[in-house]
Amino acid sequence: MADQQELSMIVDSVRALCADFPGSYWRDLDHRRAYPAAFVAAMTSAGLLGVLIPEIYGGSGLGISVAATILEEVHASGCNAAALHAQIYTMGTVLRHGSQAQKEKWLPQIASGEIRLQAFGVTEPGAGSDTTNIRTTAVREGETYRVNGQKVWTSRAEYSDLLLLLARTTPRDKVAKKTDGMSVFLIDIRDEKNQGLTIKPIATMFNHATTEVFFDDLIIPADCLVGEEGKGFRYIIDGMNAERILIAAECIGDNRWFVEKASQYAKDRIVFNRPIGQNQGVQFPIARAYAQGQAARLMTYRAAELYDEGNPHGSEANMAKLLASEASWAAADMCVQTHGGFGFAEEYDVERKFRETRLYQVAPISTNLILAYLAEHVLGLPRSY
Ligand SMILES: Cc1cc2nc3c(=O)[nH]c(=O)nc-3n(C[C@H](O)[C@H](O)[C@H](O)COP(=O)(O)OP(=O)(O)OC[C@H]3O[C@@H](n4cnc5c(N)ncnc54)[C@H](O)[C@@H]3O)c2cc1C
Repeated sequence: MADQQELSMIVDSVRALCADFPGSYWRDLDHRRAYPAAFVAAMTSAGLLGVLIPEIYGGSGLGISVAATILEEVHASGCNAAALHAQIYTMGTVLRHGSQAQKEKWLPQIASGEIRLQAFGVTEPGAGSDTTNIRTTAVREGETYRVNGQKVWTSRAEYSDLLLLLARTTPRDKVAKKTDGMSVFLIDIRDEKNQGLTIKPIATMFNHATTEVFFDDLIIPADCLVGEEGKGFRYIIDGMNAERILIAAECIGDNRWFVEKASQYAKDRIVFNRPIGQNQGVQFPIARAYAQGQAARLMTYRAAELYDEGNPHGSEANMAKLLASEASWAAADMCVQTHGGFGFAEEYDVERKFRETRLYQVAPISTNLILAYLAEHVLGLPRSY
């Protein structure tokens, strides 16, 4: 964990790095739907992406509060951290449940950025939010597994060296609990591309490099299995809380960016011979978005603190993601309204950030599923699905 002084040094260095990647950089990538290679390289060289990897494996082991601080600042600077957070947290499943050999082989290379682990294949077209209904199978054949099936929305598969995959190793109707019988695999897709693995990009409303992945008799070594066969669902759930905290931090960064951008514009834009921000109809929505962001921020860093202390944090991580994604979207909508017609002009970056931040109420988990979790597990209401 970092003390306050270390934390503010990290914030300053993230801000300074992000200043080299202004709106024009992101607009250009957005037009070309291109991967932010230079940005990822700069953040990697600064040692920021190994923040959750323990020092013995070459990371800084500073914890999730620091990771959240980094990602919040990236978004508050107008940048987008999707490719960063994937590299920061996806390895958590290997760290917590992988063999010593897997950790020694992969974690130092992930920490240094030599290897990209940025692709996480869980969602399937036929299963959606009902993860236990996945159909992708991995069948053991001696020292290998044969993988067949299809994933959707596997982001960055084209730019990642490794893929963390959830597949069924025992059919759903042959296990006592539907959450049993799924396993996690860490697959080196540099070798596998075009040999039983096909990646197809999906065109989306913003630049996210997301794909469909098809497995057609893909043969992988048995030592790709992470942890015990059949226990993969539990392993993936463990990692999801970390992801929710980090996504919440990105939303808070977006909220800050929109509030700052709108405040500035409301001070500068003169209509009817006075700044538009002098009108309560303009300033109140900005103030409300600010308050929403600050409240969500408290919940997010509370969840991060509990996570770092090793205390239960499931409900806080879920509430953080819920509140922060709503705070970022409310701020995005407010920011467009404050800018009037210029909210639609690309050069202001508002419309780009607006498109980007809409994602977080849908992915990595949709708001309804969080509400269902809180209703059932925190409030004791009957399970609704
Ligand atoms: C850009 C992008 C990137 C993504 N990246 C990844 C990735 O890298 N890896 C990965 O595995 N996945 C990824 N996803 C998938 C993402 O996690 C899912 O889209 C998300 O979990 C929602 O699942 P779904 O799209 O199948 O929606 P569905 O499950 O089909 O749900 C559709 C709607 O119905 C609602 N709904 C469904 N069931 C219920 C219920 N019982 N009660 C109330 N409401 C319900 C949902 O809340 C949602 O609003 C990504 C998605 C997007 C759009």
